[in-house]
Amino acid sequence: MEHSFQVAIDGPAASGKSTVARLLAGRIGGYYINTGDMYRTVSWVALQHGVDPVANPSGVVALLSDCDLRYRIVEGVPTLFLNDAVVPQEAIRSPEVSAIVSPVAAIPEVREWMLDRQRECKEVGIVIMEGRDIGTVIFPDAKFKFFVTASPMERARRRLAQKGEVADGATLESVAADIARRDELDSTRAVAPLRPAEDAVTIMTDGISAEEVADLLATAIRN
Ligand code: C5P
Repeated sequence: MEHSFQVAIDGPAASGKSTVARLLAGRIGGYYINTGDMYRTVSWVALQHGVDPVANPSGVVALLSDCDLRYRIVEGVPTLFLNDAVVPQEAIRSPEVSAIVSPVAAIPEVREWMLDRQRECKEVGIVIMEGRDIGTVIFPDAKFKFFVTASPMERARRRLAQKGEVADGATLESVAADIARRDELDSTRAVAPLRPAEDAVTIMTDGISAEEVADLLATAIRN
């Protein structure tokens, strides 16, 4: 196999694409990059500064100049750093961050700021990058493009099973509503909306385990 190419994995919230992308990286020997975590980190910074991205999007943009956000390879694993500190997963996966991340990600200047930061990740070699606009905007020339999805109820069930990512007292219905709201915002925004690239292969994962999906993708890539 070549030593440097990109695999784009896009899809809606809680579709299981993170698990699949991480497993696939192990299968084919590549680096897994989660771009949602980058938008989540900017959202976390906005929360810390009490900036509301809907009422005050330019307030979010003003915070970017103090953010040095980048993936660094630590012991062989791409690790997200903000200003020389590892970004804490539990902080950026909180329900408070999830509630504002789509409005933050809809701000055109925020997306523009992310472009180079995400594209430069390809320098490390084989990259499996996961997000919403990887196949359409970040790496339109990616060698492989997949759109990983699942039915709304299946996605709500998967999200509910992820401890720490849903509010206390959340129900299947409330989680499904949160996911639907985020998908709606992500799909209808003006810049880089969530949609499959024309040349992406769509995988519907209801009833299929993440391991099986990763095997499927690895086989497609090796062939
Ligand atoms: O992947 P995850 O659900 O953690 O992403 C959080 C949010 O970040 C998404 O709902 C979306 O608003 C935004 N995002 C994006 N473009 C990407 C990755 C994530 O707009 N490439």
